[in-house]
Amino acid sequence: MFKLPASADVHVIEGQYSLPLVVLSFVLAFAASYTALFINRRIKENGFFSKSFWLALASLAMGLGIWSMHFIGMSAFMLPVHMEYRISVTILSIIPAIIASYLALYFANRKNNSVVTYIAAGIYMGIGISLMHYIGMAAMEMGADYVYKPSLFILSVVIAMGASFASLYIFSIINKFMDRVVVKVLTSLLLAVAITSMHYTGMSAVQFYTTGKAPAAGHGDHAMDIGWVIGLVTICTISLFLLAGLTSQLDKYVDYRLKNFDALTKLPNQKQFADDQKNGDKAYSVAIIHLHNLEKYIMGYGYSAADDVVKSISERIESLLPQHVKLYQTEANRFTIVHTEGGQSEKLVASLEKICAVLKLPALIEGRAVTVEMVCALSTSDEPEYIQKHFSNAIAVLQSPSTSYNHEVIEFNPAIHTFNFERQLAMDIQSAMDHHQLFLVYQPKMDPEKEQLAGLEALIRWRHPVYGMISPGVFIPILEESQKIYDVTDWIIERACEQISLWNKKNVPFGQVSINIPGIYVTSPRLTGTLNENLEKYSIHPTQLELEITETSVIHDMDNAILALGKFRDKGLSVALDDFGTGLSSLSYLKRMPITTIKIDKSFVDGVPTSEKDAELLKAIIILGYSLKLHVVIEGVETNSQIEFLRAMEKQPIVQGYYYSKPLEAGELEEWMGRKVLVAK
Ligand code: C2E
Ligand code: CA
Ligand code: CA
Repeated sequence: MFKLPASADVHVIEGQYSLPLVVLSFVLAFAASYTALFINRRIKENGFFSKSFWLALASLAMGLGIWSMHFIGMSAFMLPVHMEYRISVTILSIIPAIIASYLALYFANRKNNSVVTYIAAGIYMGIGISLMHYIGMAAMEMGADYVYKPSLFILSVVIAMGASFASLYIFSIINKFMDRVVVKVLTSLLLAVAITSMHYTGMSAVQFYTTGKAPAAGHGDHAMDIGWVIGLVTICTISLFLLAGLTSQLDKYVDYRLKNFDALTKLPNQKQFADDQKNGDKAYSVAIIHLHNLEKYIMGYGYSAADDVVKSISERIESLLPQHVKLYQTEANRFTIVHTEGGQSEKLVASLEKICAVLKLPALIEGRAVTVEMVCALSTSDEPEYIQKHFSNAIAVLQSPSTSYNHEVIEFNPAIHTFNFERQLAMDIQSAMDHHQLFLVYQPKMDPEKEQLAGLEALIRWRHPVYGMISPGVFIPILEESQKIYDVTDWIIERACEQISLWNKKNVPFGQVSINIPGIYVTSPRLTGTLNENLEKYSIHPTQLELEITETSVIHDMDNAILALGKFRDKGLSVALDDFGTGLSSLSYLKRMPITTIKIDKSFVDGVPTSEKDAELLKAIIILGYSLKLHVVIEGVETNSQIEFLRAMEKQPIVQGYYYSKPLEAGELEEWMGRKVLVAK
């Protein structure tokens, strides 16, 4: 195997490579690696299909890729003798490639691997690739014999192991960034280099020879009939790619259907209802149809009979509703209807009354006529109102002792239905803090001149288990009323400081984080205590924090506010005046208040640049801010033309708005920063 025969008529023959096929072999190795990484990403996600399914599919793609690269690489090699493959051994050689890929991906996806594990995985994968390669060689039948040069033979196996180890190790480090196409491309290139370099070192280890007559010079009849191999592997790789794409879409869809729709009635469920209100959406009406005492039917007739009842009721409701409504099944015995069309509430009420009348007619269950008790609670408004608000009004109707189940529509009346959304939220807030329903998002503030990040504003979010996403515009005023705002602000300060210290450790250059401080809290000694405690606990430099206050909220106690703010400034904290221009805005206050920054309210930029008056006013405010030696931030910038207007100014204000980014969670923000590259110091 390693030694040329010692006879005199041995003729060593040199082969040549066809460059286009070598390139094609590399491209195939790359395409397969990319496909494998693409599929592999799904392993991290908890989808409908199991992780093993994705692992198997990724291994298949990778194994097929290594295998096809090998055969294209072989066909790139030209000898002046006849060459062909034994099909059975050729097909057999794919098995070690797939097993090696499986082992490699299995280890690479495991958490907390040690370097030793990666070395072991590199060895397995290297053995697999080498096995496939040398079994593939044995599948060749040709008019020549061959031996291996021992040193290159060993080198090829070592390269296979070393390169596999390196790729796996690097893969494990950058796996968390694998969502980015550029990272997937770079990793695939690395894997392709590993696979092809092993192959071509392996090939240079082979010495071909004939005995007897020397083969004719030239390489006219070298051609192996491997057109079919090329065709097959190309088709396989493309199909795998398509399959991966298709299955991942299917996986997402099945998962979404399972989570967001009721299995029985196929209606969107409570989760979908909550998701639909992420943006604090508004509607004209919300109605809840409540089926009473369903348990009675379950006890009497069994679950499947009760299911039949609910299903037939849902079909009847659906058929009787007017247009422009969305129907959800928010609980096993509750249907929620959201109506978004103005001036149509009479039509809706008529439909709801019809539904009540129809449901009053007995339905047949197991041959017996049964009437399900029900009631429909309704909340409507002339102007669009937060859906959450309507929903809680309808709940209040259902919870009222005066409500019975007489197949009627009962409209919310605040005098009777005293369940109170505000009170409920104030009660829920403690549990929200304890159960991770509250979280902070951060909105970038950008310097448009340098296109650099100037700082962040921390904004609170509440994902409520019943009402879905509630806007801070709704719950902050409620918390202020109920005094709960102190606890929540302390919580916000601590979370923001914790995040700052994390970013400091990771060297994330975020500039400065602003926190909104409610007016009633500004003068409280408790605020000073909380700030000192957290600055110390998280080792934060005071210049990394800014407090945002509004003038309307401090105006009633201006002297004390000025005193408190002065102390914060002395400590090194920045202070911004939020929503500038919306309050009473006396310029004398502006002069007296020890602030560092003004944040011009969104309403001043909305009409710019279309309205000349608005544009002039905005310019004047910005110039005023700068003339008072303040930083100027402008909020709510959404369009390119607004940015262009600001860019034309001699001294441009800092910009915060959807034009650059919506508020983002910390992880998303880091990705966003990665894309924006440079950051101001
Ligand atoms: P704010 O302090 O004036 O915050 C700016 C609001 O404008 C944020 O709404 C932000 O998402 C939104 N915004 C930013 N850029 C744009 C844009 O280009 N277009 C539009 N349409 N909106 C933009 P958000 O987060 O809903 O907060 C609303 C208000 O709730 C805040 O107004 C603030 O008064 C209060 N708030 C939010 N988070 C907190 C907090 O952590 N503590 C306190 N006390 N109040 C908070
Ligand atoms: Ca603010
Ligand atoms: Ca503001």
